[in-house]
Amino acid sequence: MTDGKSALLQIRKELALLDSRGMRRELKTVTGPQRSESTLGGQSMTILCSNNYLGLADHPRLKELAVEMTRKYGCSSGASRLISGTMTLHRQLEEELAVFKGTEGALVYNCGYMANLGVLSTVVDEGDVIFSDALNHASIVDGCRLSRAEVKIYRHSDVGHLVDLLQRFGTSFGRRLIVTDSVFSMDGDLAPLPQIASLAKRYDALLLVDDAHATGVLGRGGRGSASHFQLPPDSIDLLMGTLGKAMGSCGAFVAGRREYLDYLINKSRSFIYTTALPPAVLGASLAAVRLLREDPGLAAELREKVEYFRRALRKLGFDVSDDPTPIIPLIVGDAGQAMRISEKFMEAGVFIQGIRPPTVEPGSSRLRITITRDLSWTRMDEILAVFSQLHGSFLVGDAS
Ligand code: PMP
Repeated sequence: MTDGKSALLQIRKELALLDSRGMRRELKTVTGPQRSESTLGGQSMTILCSNNYLGLADHPRLKELAVEMTRKYGCSSGASRLISGTMTLHRQLEEELAVFKGTEGALVYNCGYMANLGVLSTVVDEGDVIFSDALNHASIVDGCRLSRAEVKIYRHSDVGHLVDLLQRFGTSFGRRLIVTDSVFSMDGDLAPLPQIASLAKRYDALLLVDDAHATGVLGRGGRGSASHFQLPPDSIDLLMGTLGKAMGSCGAFVAGRREYLDYLINKSRSFIYTTALPPAVLGASLAAVRLLREDPGLAAELREKVEYFRRALRKLGFDVSDDPTPIIPLIVGDAGQAMRISEKFMEAGVFIQGIRPPTVEPGSSRLRITITRDLSWTRMDEILAVFSQLHGSFLVGDAS
C-alpha cells in the first residue's frame, strides 16, 4: 500500500470517529444574501449567528462602491503589496481607518487571521515572551506558536494572574508582549483593558489588542474598545481590527505608530507574501468606514437591540450577562445536545449554530447567539417567544 493510501485510511477512521461522537462538522449553506432575514438551503431563516453586526454586508452604499471600484480599477490587485499590488484604494482605506481609530497609521491585511499571525510572528521572536489570555482567538494561539517566543497563558481576564506572570517572567526574556481579545469571540465578554494597558506600560511590554468584535460595535460611533473604555488610542501599541464582521466587508487592519507599521511592511510574512485585497473589497470597506463616521447612530442602534434582547432572555430565565456586546453565549454543556437544540431552532425558522470543542472547552458546548442591527423589533419578539418555548431543552439531560 502506498503512503498516500494509508493516510487516506487513517483520515477515514478519524472522520468516522468524529461521526460516532457527534462531532463531525458540516458546512451549512446560506442561499440568500447575508442579512438577518435570508434563506438557508433554500428555506426562509432568520440568521442569529452571523458577525454582520451592523447589517452592512447587504447595504446599498457598500455594494455601490464595490461595483464602482471594480468598474474603475478591475477585479484584482494582481500582485502582493510590496510588488505592484498596492493601489490608491489601499492607501485611501488605510488613511481613513487611521483617522477613524485616531492612530498615526493603519495597515491593511487580507483578514484578521493573517493579521494576528503576521503581527505576532514579527514583533516577537525566540528569546522573547508573550503573555496571552486563556480564551484568546485561535489566530492568536497560532500566531504565538509561529512566533517561537515563550508563551505564558494567564487565566481568562485575571489581571492578578497576569501581574504574577509579569513579575515572574518579565525580566528573564528580551521583548515582552501582552495580547488579548477586547471582546471574546465565543463568550462576548470584555477584557479589562484599562488595567491591562497600565500593566503593559508598567512592565514595558508591547500591547496587542484584537478588536475584531468591537470594531463598529463598541465606543463612540463604533470606534472600538479603546473608545469604549475612554483610553487614549496610543495606550494600545498594536490594535488589530477586522473588516469582515460589523464592517460588512472583508479584510483586517493593524492600527498604531508608523514605526510599528513600517516594521510590519518589512518583516510580516502574512502581509508580504500574499496577493493584496481587490478593489471590490476595498470599496466596500471604504464605504463602511465612511458610513460609520457619518452616522454614529448605527452602532448605538445595535447596542440598543443588544440590551433589549439580553434583558428579555434574562427575564425568560436564561443565564445572560449585561455585557454590551452582541455575542450572547447560552451554555448547554453537552455537544450533542447543543446541536439538537440548534436543530429545533432551525425548525422554528431561526439559525443559531451550535459551538463545540475544539472551538470551546469540552463540556462547554453552547449556542452562540449574535444580535444584528437589521433584526426588526417585531422579529426579535417572535424569536424570544421561540426561546421561551425551547427553554426546557437547555436543561442538561433533556434530549427530547
Ligand atoms: N480575531 C477574532 C477574535 C475573531 O473572532 C476572528 C474571526 N472569527 C478573527 C480574529 C479572524 O478574523 P478574520 O475572519 O478576518 O480572519
